[in-house]
Amino acid sequence: MVRIHCYNMSQEELVLAEAWAQHRHVQLTYTDQPLTVETLALAEGADGICLAQMEPFDTSLYARLFQMGIKQIAQRSAGVDMYDLLAAKENGITITNVPSYSPESIAEFTVLRILQLLRLENGIRQNVEKRDFTWDVAIRGQVLGEKTVAVIGVGRIGSRVARFLSAFGCPILGYDICPDPELADLVDYQDSLEEIVAQADIISLHLPLTQETEYLFDRGLLSRCKPGTLFLNMARGRLLDTRALLDSLNERPIAAAALDTFEGEGELVRQDLQGQDIADPLFEAILHHPHILYSPHVAYYTETAVREIVEQALDAALSIIETGQSENSVNA
Ligand code: NAD
Repeated sequence: MVRIHCYNMSQEELVLAEAWAQHRHVQLTYTDQPLTVETLALAEGADGICLAQMEPFDTSLYARLFQMGIKQIAQRSAGVDMYDLLAAKENGITITNVPSYSPESIAEFTVLRILQLLRLENGIRQNVEKRDFTWDVAIRGQVLGEKTVAVIGVGRIGSRVARFLSAFGCPILGYDICPDPELADLVDYQDSLEEIVAQADIISLHLPLTQETEYLFDRGLLSRCKPGTLFLNMARGRLLDTRALLDSLNERPIAAAALDTFEGEGELVRQDLQGQDIADPLFEAILHHPHILYSPHVAYYTETAVREIVEQALDAALSIIETGQSENSVNA
């Protein structure tokens, strides 16, 4: 029977992995520890390994894995920047990722946040917490169907956001280096970001982070937005100059924002910091801003997405073990 050893395994993943293994007649062994020189021996005798590596991976481990008869690493995430892909390949290790998992989850969360911004959810909640049940313009909402929405990056997630929003009847502008002709009935693609932000009431970022897109939404572009714009970033923190966004929320034109990612989130996300000071004034400013809805990179986090991550990573591991190939290989 094939045996796959899983590192960094959480309890919720373990339940899903066990169900997968039973169905495939594969034996799984686990640890919640990361793969290091000290924990390498746990994979002794296994045919393959599955990781959720967060920190940079020790490159000396590639050769040692190969010597143990292990020829792959199945990473349980889309990002693989923690690995030296060339060094892995040179040592006979194929690395696989999970390129996409439940884009619907992120798209649904985006629609939720758009509606919460439009209906001033922060203000309603604060009033109710104070037992202030009055109505006034501070909690008077707006109708989504009357708004023009700009979807910046109309890929797996952005296209679903556009499709979901079309049910509300709002015009949708799109910006993408590769416009999809099949979305032409849904998305009015525009060539210029400056023109798009000047027309949109709501701007939602769904781009990958690349050299071209890093800090794409800078002070200059934000200043060209329409007064009262609602701004959402569910993609990557560094697509946006966070300081410039805060200034533009305080001085306009941006009225409110929903951020699921933050450029300094690396050391913060997934940590329980209750009762502790956070030594990042920019992050503190986001957390305390009355017109920002912040969430700690949870847009994807649904039962479906976690199951897809675990199952696709294990499928890729098994495929490499059995055939030497996987469509999710990132260094073949
Ligand atoms: P995707 O590759 O399917 O879509 C990205 C789109 O952006 C593509 O259509 C591409 O053509 C376009 N694009 C790329 N570079 C561009 C450029 N310079 N200018 C204009 N368009 C450009 O990606 P996806 O799966 O839809 O993911 C989108 C974003 O969401 C990524 O940043 C990803 O990391 C992020 N994400 C966030 C979460 C979360 O929980 N918040 C979860 C998964 C993914």
